[in-house]
Amino acid sequence: MTESRTKTRFAPSPTGMLHVGNLRTALFSWLFSASRDGTFLLRIEDTDQSRSEADYARAIETDLEWLGLNWHEGPGMRGPHGPYLQSERGDIYRNYFDLLEQQQLAYHCFCSEQQLNLSRKSQLAAGQPPRYSGTCLKLTRDEVIARLERGLRPTLRFRVPPGATVMFDDLVRGPQRFETDHIGDFVVRRSDGTPAFFFCNAVDDALMGVTHVLRGEDHLTNTPRQILLLEALGLTAPRYGHIAMIVGSDGTPLSKRHGSFSVHELSEAGYLPDAVINYLARLGHNYDDNSFLSTAALAAQFQLERVGRVPSQFDPAQLMHWQREAVIRSDAVALWEWMGEDVRHIVTEARRDAFFDAVRPNVLFPKDALHWATILFHEPLALNDAAHTIIRNAGAAFFEHAVRALDAHRGDFAALLSDLKQATNARGKALFLPLRAALTGETDGPEMAQLIPLLSIERARRRLQAGINSAGS
Ligand code: GLU
Repeated sequence: MTESRTKTRFAPSPTGMLHVGNLRTALFSWLFSASRDGTFLLRIEDTDQSRSEADYARAIETDLEWLGLNWHEGPGMRGPHGPYLQSERGDIYRNYFDLLEQQQLAYHCFCSEQQLNLSRKSQLAAGQPPRYSGTCLKLTRDEVIARLERGLRPTLRFRVPPGATVMFDDLVRGPQRFETDHIGDFVVRRSDGTPAFFFCNAVDDALMGVTHVLRGEDHLTNTPRQILLLEALGLTAPRYGHIAMIVGSDGTPLSKRHGSFSVHELSEAGYLPDAVINYLARLGHNYDDNSFLSTAALAAQFQLERVGRVPSQFDPAQLMHWQREAVIRSDAVALWEWMGEDVRHIVTEARRDAFFDAVRPNVLFPKDALHWATILFHEPLALNDAAHTIIRNAGAAFFEHAVRALDAHRGDFAALLSDLKQATNARGKALFLPLRAALTGETDGPEMAQLIPLLSIERARRRLQAGINSAGS
């Protein structure tokens, strides 16, 4: 495999569960590399040990696997550029820190949090954008040594070259231009010795041969810093594209306030992976084809030029639309598994396909399947209030005719209806609804022609007979 092949990556920090916003970034990166028959890499950015948790890293991998977003290189693999957990790459980073120090491209900074805050405040008060004031850049070698001997633990700051301009062509947002005089010297190594985000994120992209980085637009202003750093280290920067964020219905960035949108929560709620993928692929990417597509088809039609620059609004109704589509298209084995053990127990394997044929359009989540399984195969049937009223209004005679018509025509629902129509003079809803109410206890639901064979003639008969009693009572 040559390095000139497109390589994208997803580089989550395992500080929480995977959220739809991050997932959409991962998905776009996955689709883009797949559209070019490229490579997709997963890297876990766990250098901030105080916030990272191994459990979250595993959960992120589980979520990606659930969605079928497989990676060619990543944790658990002995790929050519591993390890893929940043916490295991300390030696690699040390070499580059040494290089920066030897070439005086970085310097020790002893400023305390308090000093930095004060300086930030006074810059803001003077109407200036806050950036590092350069205090420790002025320290002499002896002053640095003296501080180190006193046991002070410095950060390492990258020296941003003054008076330069960083330009790059953003894959999504087009040409970008930043003046280095507006960028303060930034920390590449924390005082505890761990590498800071700007550093390890950029270095790893370069060392791992990533060609295209797609990430949230909140990283846009980080990019000139990372380009400068890679240039200083003599490493090749990837091309960067910044994707507009996802907002809730009120226009603010999607958060807990808008509902539960971790990938795990969606899967627990019964959303199907294909529904989530079809929805998120279109959230900020414009497809001509509005039909339900496989991940491979979504990849084939993915184009960076079609990624929008304005925030996308998360719309639960759209997600529900794709969920419906996914349930309709899901293959029987997957659907059977998804519906859960209780449904499998009640319906049984022998009736599986007839059950699917009847209830699929009425099922969005496993709980709906359980609802219909219980109605169809569980006694006694519970009638809701509306069904009760309809049965009473239809009257006992209606159900006597219905039982007779059922006996005469067995599973032939059209013939049953036509007989019943003649015998009762009922039309339209007055004909259908009492039947539905007596057979299912509900006033809407699956096609009735499919329900009777599924119920069995015997059970249908018992329920119609119960209708005679309820109507008469
Ligand atoms: N670990 C960073 C994050 O989760 C990665 C940002 C990037 O994609 O470059 O925000």
